[in-house]
Amino acid sequence: DAKTQGRNTYRFYEPALQQRGARRLNLENGLKRALELGELMLYFQPKYDCARRRLIGAEALLRWQYKHEWISPTEFIPLAEETGLILPLGEWVLEAALNTLAEWRHQQLVDDEFHIGVNVSPAQFWHPQFAQRTLEILQRCLPGGQGLLELELTESCLLRPSEESQRTFNALRQAGVRFAVDDFGTGYSNLGYLKQFPLDVLKIDQSFVRDCIDDLSDATIIRAIIAMAHGLGLAVIAEGVETLEHAEFLKREGCELLQGYLLAKPMPADQFAEFCRQLAFHPYLGSVAASHAA
Ligand code: C2E
Ligand code: MG
Ligand code: MG
Ligand code: MG
Repeated sequence: DAKTQGRNTYRFYEPALQQRGARRLNLENGLKRALELGELMLYFQPKYDCARRRLIGAEALLRWQYKHEWISPTEFIPLAEETGLILPLGEWVLEAALNTLAEWRHQQLVDDEFHIGVNVSPAQFWHPQFAQRTLEILQRCLPGGQGLLELELTESCLLRPSEESQRTFNALRQAGVRFAVDDFGTGYSNLGYLKQFPLDVLKIDQSFVRDCIDDLSDATIIRAIIAMAHGLGLAVIAEGVETLEHAEFLKREGCELLQGYLLAKPMPADQFAEFCRQLAFHPYLGSVAASHAA
């Protein structure tokens, strides 16, 4: 009886599985041509320093429009990682992000310290040529650009403390590349990497920020991350800051950098430029600036 039931269950799920397989294949094939067809673009989300009351940078986030549908990076990035496509895609992202920053600097939309954050997958970071290729692109797009590029690595990039990854860090570090640990607190729990690698910033994952007002555990975890970051001489930025309450809580706890919908959703480069020009009229940032000026 269990056997027939098992078989029935199997049959019941089969079409759904097949459909998922078909979508996957379809996306995989689409992704292979996305670059040449110009279907990829970058959105940018501001990072804000509430202590110094200014924008300190922007995170570049990849967007893909395929057959009139926007596919989420949470769906296509894993596909790109599994197929190896992440290597050409990653270089495209890096180059496009740095060129955009070069343009903003040229237009004097941003100050000298404004950086661009670029997400890096483990498969990219572990590639033997990663440091060299990255430095070539940096040199081409922003020659001498010390401190203008911040690579956002997930904890999974850091859990193999090999000599090779140490060399990768050192080579990039020497050229002034900065490093952030993305989604901090959701990955690997061996924190030894924090002292091993030359890191600059911890990004508190948005899953802790979401309910930090009502959930004592989230609030406690956030406090601990901030204390640890500062104790290690690292900066700390909270992602997923959606409400004034989030921002007030984080500031009170000593988190100086904020990123999230409260400030702005990710947006195309031209809209980001407009955002910079209109900063004084921003409902949150504008009033912060005004209340401090008064
Ligand atoms: P991430 O690097 O942790 O990026 C933050 C994600 O949170 C982004 O989702 C962003 O749009 C979203 N977000 C920002 N503020 C808020 C907020 O206030 N509330 C909420 N609910 N969400 C917010 P997105 O753009 O869908 O990207 C998802 C993930 O895909 C990224 O997470 C990153 O891991 C990956 N990804 C995106 N672009 C790239 C890329 O160029 N290369 C690589 N390797 N990964 C990328
Ligand atoms: Mg990120
Ligand atoms: Mg994140
Ligand atoms: Mg994330």
